[in-house]
Amino acid sequence: MDKQQALQRIDQEAALFCADSDAIWDCPETAYQEETAARILCDRLEAEGFSVTRGLAGIATAFLGRWGEGRPVIGFLGEYDALSGLSQEAGSCEKRPLPDIPAGHGCGHNLLGAGALAAASAYKAYLEENRLPGTVLYFGCPAEEGGSGKAFLARDHVFDELDAAITWHPGDSTQVFGGSSLANCQVYYRFHGTSAHAAACPHLGRSALDAVELMNVGVQFLREHMIPEARVHYAITNTGGYSPNVVQPEAEVLYLIRSPKNIQVRELHERVTAIARGAAEMTGTRMEEDFVKACSNLVPNDTLCELMWENVQALPVPQYTEEERSYAKAIRATVPKQKTYLQLSMELLGSRKGRAHAEGWDEEEPIFTKPLPYEPTDAVMPGSTDVGDVSCVCPTVQCYVTTQAAGSPGHSWQVVAQGKSGIAHKGMIYAAKIMAATAIDLCHRPDVLEAAKAELKDRLAEDGGSYVPPIPAGVRPRIIQPGKQR
Ligand SMILES: [Zn+2]
Ligand SMILES: [Zn+2]
Repeated sequence: MDKQQALQRIDQEAALFCADSDAIWDCPETAYQEETAARILCDRLEAEGFSVTRGLAGIATAFLGRWGEGRPVIGFLGEYDALSGLSQEAGSCEKRPLPDIPAGHGCGHNLLGAGALAAASAYKAYLEENRLPGTVLYFGCPAEEGGSGKAFLARDHVFDELDAAITWHPGDSTQVFGGSSLANCQVYYRFHGTSAHAAACPHLGRSALDAVELMNVGVQFLREHMIPEARVHYAITNTGGYSPNVVQPEAEVLYLIRSPKNIQVRELHERVTAIARGAAEMTGTRMEEDFVKACSNLVPNDTLCELMWENVQALPVPQYTEEERSYAKAIRATVPKQKTYLQLSMELLGSRKGRAHAEGWDEEEPIFTKPLPYEPTDAVMPGSTDVGDVSCVCPTVQCYVTTQAAGSPGHSWQVVAQGKSGIAHKGMIYAAKIMAATAIDLCHRPDVLEAAKAELKDRLAEDGGSYVPPIPAGVRPRIIQPGKQR
């Protein structure tokens, strides 16, 4: 089997993978609750000849598919979680939530999981047919959205045996993703005070809500004195109740702290915690800190990006029917004429790719088909992904692939609506081919793998040494939604 035949195999099996993606779309499940999606993908892995470990690292909806033995050990990363509040009818050109379905695939992870699996099985077929040594792993990674599933898996060493990891993300354009992303951590600050009648004996009360408010004011002043790339967000998750005539004895605020490097997040987290302690001092309350999760910055790997870019250039881009183009046009018309998140972030950071993207912004073009040129960049995307933790453990490469109309906003009903469309399916199959082709090259190019590992080592050294998992031992993954978290 040559490389071309391995890629053709993806076309031959496309209907299966598209059906899996559609079935996951039909049953959108949010972070750490992806039971149906995990079952669909585990069944497919077994049907494709992989042995499957469910409940990987003690996480119910994490799993591992394994085939083959020896080196290289190449891992494909799959995601399959949905977003709450994004219920939406498929194929519609207007916002139309489905009854009784509270979530939706607004980030395209139905495609992500099935597409990465298609790549893993084509690569497996290539090794098997050609009797080549090598291990193929497919990681079922839950809770990318807000749960940092991969960071928990990385802390528990599941990626340690990898020579390289490959993944992709659905989007409105095709490009090999260089650059980095923000590391982050998410922490509850809970204040415990003393309840009292707010009029009769306020002097006996100690308000936990006051502590939350003072903490937020303190952090507001902190913002002037942190690096501009850092971000500190919060949500008040418990105000203490609805009664102003009661001194609120309990209150809670959830902080999300971001910075370009893990070490900067750690420092900023300490400063935020010091403010929380100060707020407790000021109000005579007790502060309790509860670490939820964290993820690392992406460590780009130019060596692997170059290899993936060669494959993007060699593969034909998907062709669309008139019907698909007019659907994309109708979706495009629902999007305010504003720059996409990706455009903004890349432009802000002054990258050439950002300008290329901006120049490719044709009002009349409903689907961005032409891949954006790859170039190494120091840009940091102002967002986070738990792929970051994998990229700290082994050389990791990913591409964005067009699965949506041009300008479709991230985490939107438009993305959900297009999740089962021909555009989405074609993009997923194209992405699978890019990933499989890259893996096939890697199995013949130990020199590239060695160079990629050396690059990772250098980059980690620049950041102060080896990977320190940002999630402390003992912190367990948890479901963050009203009524579910403690
Ligand atoms: Zn997302
Ligand atoms: Zn995503």
